This record gives sequence, structure tokens and C-alpha cells, in this order.
Amino acid sequence: MARKFVISPTKLRIWYRCPAEYRLEYIDKLGRFYHRARAGFAFGHSLHRVLETFHTAGGAENVDAETLSASLEGAWVAKGYSGEEQETAFKEEATRILTDYHTAEVARAETARVEAEKTGEPLPDPPRLFLAEKALRIDLTPEIALTGRVDRVDEHPALGGALEIVDYKSGRMGVTSEDVAESVAMNTYQAVLKRKHPERRVFATIVALRSGTSASHEMGDNERESFLAETTETGETIRTKDWENVLPVLNDHCPYCDFLPHCEKFWARQKRRGL
Ligand code: SF4
Repeated sequence: MARKFVISPTKLRIWYRCPAEYRLEYIDKLGRFYHRARAGFAFGHSLHRVLETFHTAGGAENVDAETLSASLEGAWVAKGYSGEEQETAFKEEATRILTDYHTAEVARAETARVEAEKTGEPLPDPPRLFLAEKALRIDLTPEIALTGRVDRVDEHPALGGALEIVDYKSGRMGVTSEDVAESVAMNTYQAVLKRKHPERRVFATIVALRSGTSASHEMGDNERESFLAETTETGETIRTKDWENVLPVLNDHCPYCDFLPHCEKFWARQKRRGL
């Protein structure tokens, strides 16, 4: 049986911002010649690893703040920093983030306890880890599958077993519910998880780790269906694309793109030929 064409949030994001970048990455497969290790990526990856271990171990109830911060050393990804000074600054920031994260987790549990005491209601069961760092996949058509890797999914007994997708962002200071609603990745995770658990409420939350702020959005049925329809159409366009004529065109993303040296050479050649 022919292998399915698999679309993911990363592929969709690249396709939407520059089809030529998609070609260079996934069709010509030139990424290994151009991708550079980046400090921001290493920093985010390190924090993701620490938080996965933290939540898998039971969160603040089982892991104290010192243990959480100390676990950074073993999870630290050192590639991509410009030097020792930059790496130290990032490590200090990561330690601060983890300390604040732990404080917020403890405060959240304490708020729930105080609230229950006030109302005289029994303390609701806290959210529990449902999935961590897990790739989920559904079929969109016989030829196309949609996949997404979630950082974490919590199950909320107090919300009737609702599933909350939690995505950590290590680079941003703030986040709004509009950001969550407009995120291709968060929409993918919600659509895929809802397909797998149609009986449950599914919503998504982005946590901006630097500030500790978070925002959520729950896709409605119509929103989810139209996202899936649009994604299926885009997947089919990419799957059947004639790539020969997909050429680099200068756009807003170029200054941040690893393929810029490749495209600059292409544009210089075009200019020499008078094209
Ligand atoms: S440099 Fe610009 S045109 Fe070239 S692949 Fe990157 S975004 Fe696309």
C-alpha cells in the first residue's frame, strides 16, 4: 500500500509563509546544508525536556522547586549559543522560569484548596497528566494524514473529563486567546485530539513561559470542521504540486530564513541572466 502523505503544523506553517521554503526543505531536502543551531531553539528544547519530566513525575505535588531547577543541568541542550556568556545568561533565565513555574503550580493548588474551604464543597480532583510529548495522527483522506506532537495534555476531572492541550512557548512574553485561536499548531492538536475523543470537551492553552501567563481557546464544531476542510485542501495542493516552477520570491520571512544564502544565489543568477 502506498504511504500516506503526512501533513503537520510545521509543514503547514512553512507552506503558508513560503512555498519555495517548503520545496527546499521537504522536496529538495537541502535543510542539512543550511540549518544552523539556534540559541532560542536549544533554550526551548531544554525547558520542554525539564517540564515533561516534571509533569510525568506528578508535578509540584511530588517534585520540589529545587529538584525541578536542578533537573535543568541534565536536560540542558548546549548547542546554538554564541559563547559561554550567552549560554550562562540563558541558563539563568531558564532557572528563573522554572522557579516561577513551580511557584505558580503550588499557588494554583492552594487557590483551589482555599476556594473549596470557602464554599464547603469537597476539593475537586486536580487535573492529571493524560499525555506528554506525544505524536497524534488522524487520516484526512485515503491519501493524506494529519499529525501533531503535543507537549502535554491534561485531563480535568472537575470539568467532566475535559482534555486540555498545553503548549509551552519559551520565546514569548505574553499570549492572548486570539493567539491560541489563530495558531495552526493548536488548531491541529485540537482537531486531532477531538477526533480521537469525540465524547470529551477539548481545549488548548498556550503558556508563555517567560512571563508565566497563559491563554486558552476551545474550537467550536464549525470552526474545527472548516479548519479540517481547509487543511485537507491545502494538503491536497501540496501533495499534488508540480514543484519545478515553485521558485524563491522575496518576502517578509526572508531575513529570518536559513535558506536565504541559497535564494540570494538564485536571485543573483536570475539577475545575471536578465530575468
Ligand atoms: S529566503 Fe525567502 S524566498 Fe528563500 S526560502 Fe526563505 S523565505 Fe522563501
